[in-house]
Amino acid sequence: MHRAQGSGRELSCPYDPFVEKGFSMLPGPILLYRCTSCDGLFSRRTLSSGNTLGAQYRSDGQMKARMLPQTPPLVVCPHCHELFCMAGAQPAISYRNYFPGFGFVEKPTPEALASKKAQEALAEQYRDVPRYELATRSQCTQYVHGHDISAHPEQLRLYAWHRVNDAGVGQHCQSLCRGQRH
Ligand SMILES: [Zn+2]
Repeated sequence: MHRAQGSGRELSCPYDPFVEKGFSMLPGPILLYRCTSCDGLFSRRTLSSGNTLGAQYRSDGQMKARMLPQTPPLVVCPHCHELFCMAGAQPAISYRNYFPGFGFVEKPTPEALASKKAQEALAEQYRDVPRYELATRSQCTQYVHGHDISAHPEQLRLYAWHRVNDAGVGQHCQSLCRGQRH
């Protein structure tokens, strides 16, 4: 369990990127997707703002930024571990659980209050829905070879390519570290 810096709010997700930098990023809605294989729900957090400060870029075009985490276009359902294509998928449910500045400048209207209450009720109802999991490299490559990816060809091929390259980058780093020790 993390405690957000200075906010007094506790967030239960151990991977929560918003906590690490003291809310340098602003959370957007939480989206829930329904698995096409087992019908189970899983979640995806979104950002309403972030930035690329300190980002790392690779020669294959992959960008990793701590304050702009990307949702992979291919993920795995945490219930049945089947692959799920996020590209073009529509969420089944969407809600907010973060309301920056609500009621701070002016008194909220009854409609705004009712909307906030409804969002909070959804957040409570779906609070235990697990997040998606990362697909393996072979799941990604098998998907781009074995499925019709004509709707999002570049996005899916690039992601599979990046995942394959991740292994090479890891080995390269290990050999560099070994080289430094000798
Ligand atoms: Zn599933």
